[in-house]
Amino acid sequence: MIRGNDGSNNRRCGARKKDGDPCSVKVKEGDKRCFFHDPGKKEERRAAQARGGQANRALSLPIDVPDFVLETVSDLRPILAATMKRVLRHELSPNAATAVCNLANSLMKTFDDRDLRQRLQDLERLVAQSDKKKGLFDPDEG
Ligand SMILES: [Zn+2]
Repeated sequence: MIRGNDGSNNRRCGARKKDGDPCSVKVKEGDKRCFFHDPGKKEERRAAQARGGQANRALSLPIDVPDFVLETVSDLRPILAATMKRVLRHELSPNAATAVCNLANSLMKTFDDRDLRQRLQDLERLVAQSDKKKGLFDPDEG
């Protein structure tokens, strides 16, 4: 039994990693290998990997969630807030949240584009109107 000065267990896994270095994972007293290197825990490892795979699977909204409007930047706020909460509660993977964030950013760019087009149309309409009433804003006149 190997124990540190503070009484903690310093026993390490006896296996070697793929790069040849000794595995640094601590093992319980009586164990020679860690969870990852114990040949007797192959089935447990497989089950843990399957659970991990399930956790990483994309979560989707339930089919009965009413469709939501995404027309303005303000419409994004509750969705981003809900996404943050779900990540913090471990209900949504950070990867899925990153995808939501990227989509929100792309959507915001289309809002900017739409708003600029609208402002340009408004300006063009104003110029066309002032051309019709020529002389109204003519600085040489008056
Ligand atoms: Zn190990």
